[in-house]
Amino acid sequence: MQQLTARQILDRLVSFPTVSRGSNLALVDWLEGYLTGQGVRCFRHWNEDRQKAALIAHAGPWEEGAVVLSGHSDVVPVDGQAWTSDPWTVTERDGRLYGRGTCDMKGFVALAVRALVEAQARGVRRPLQLALSYDEEIGCTGAPPMIRAMQDVVPKGSAAIIGEPSRMGVITGHKGGTGYHVHVKGFEVHSSLLPHGVSAIMEGARLIDWLNDTNAGIRAKPPTGMAARFDPPFTTLHVGMIEGGTAHNITAADCRFAVEMRVVPGESIPDWEDRFVARAREIEAAMQAVRPEAAIHLDRFFGVPGLQPEEGGEAEALARRLTGDNRTGVVSYGTEAGQFQEAGYSAVVCGPGDIAQAHQPDEYLEVSQFRAGERFMERLLAALA
Ligand SMILES: [Zn+2]
Repeated sequence: MQQLTARQILDRLVSFPTVSRGSNLALVDWLEGYLTGQGVRCFRHWNEDRQKAALIAHAGPWEEGAVVLSGHSDVVPVDGQAWTSDPWTVTERDGRLYGRGTCDMKGFVALAVRALVEAQARGVRRPLQLALSYDEEIGCTGAPPMIRAMQDVVPKGSAAIIGEPSRMGVITGHKGGTGYHVHVKGFEVHSSLLPHGVSAIMEGARLIDWLNDTNAGIRAKPPTGMAARFDPPFTTLHVGMIEGGTAHNITAADCRFAVEMRVVPGESIPDWEDRFVARAREIEAAMQAVRPEAAIHLDRFFGVPGLQPEEGGEAEALARRLTGDNRTGVVSYGTEAGQFQEAGYSAVVCGPGDIAQAHQPDEYLEVSQFRAGERFMERLLAALA
């Protein structure tokens, strides 16, 4: 089978509209067929309803200690966004490769696929693996089962490079996070009888105000050493969506909102969750003293560990050698890197493109960044040889 260039692979990957809400199997079918045709061993890890699969690939000797190149197959939707050209076709103009996922993160995946094929063809001494997940964009929920499956189907790798856009800088730390869908159940009465009802909106506001107060308390204290490296240099609690109520003169029966907490590595995410849940239970108890049927339902919809900077970490040393980047970089967005680290891999984030272009209409990857990624992979192959 004919070998494709990284750019040709990117064109194919972008042509599959792998929005997280749909299946990614067309992409996985194609990629598995291509890699297998090049002699690279592939394994699938299916999700529960078998509508999606992660693809795990191994090139080089069947031994432990691989470098793992990690990416996600899914992309965010294009609905309602104004695109100049077809988001599912890579279009090059003004030194940029436009298309959904070119930056986040099919550009890196294309480079990684090309590197695996090369590693297999050249016969490297140290193995190279690809870990391609699904459901990253809906809260990094696809990587943990994929990482567990990897332990069974391929020899354990040691250093993981997660190719989220970092302009090829080496990112050694990121915040973790957790999120809840909150459903406050009130009790409807005419608002003139306010004390006899429970307004889901006004009770929900108490919980939201706890987030505000907690944010203010965090900001009033000087940042800890680890936190000081982040922008902003503290944990943040946020509500991004809210709805509730039917009329100005009815105590609201329902109020729904979504809470996310972005937690500095080193702080315990379970502790933050416990504090939040405890406050919700306090408010709920007061609501139920008025109307026993009132309640606050909490549905934890994501939880992602932070990436802790490692002392003398192997992935960091390798990425620094390959990029020449000696600055310390941490970011405030979450990635799958913390999940690899939690599973015992040394992990860093390093990939082409700028996070500012991710999720945007007219998302693009600069050609120069793609080239920098190609040079990175070339040096990686030399290091594995
Ligand atoms: Zn991404």
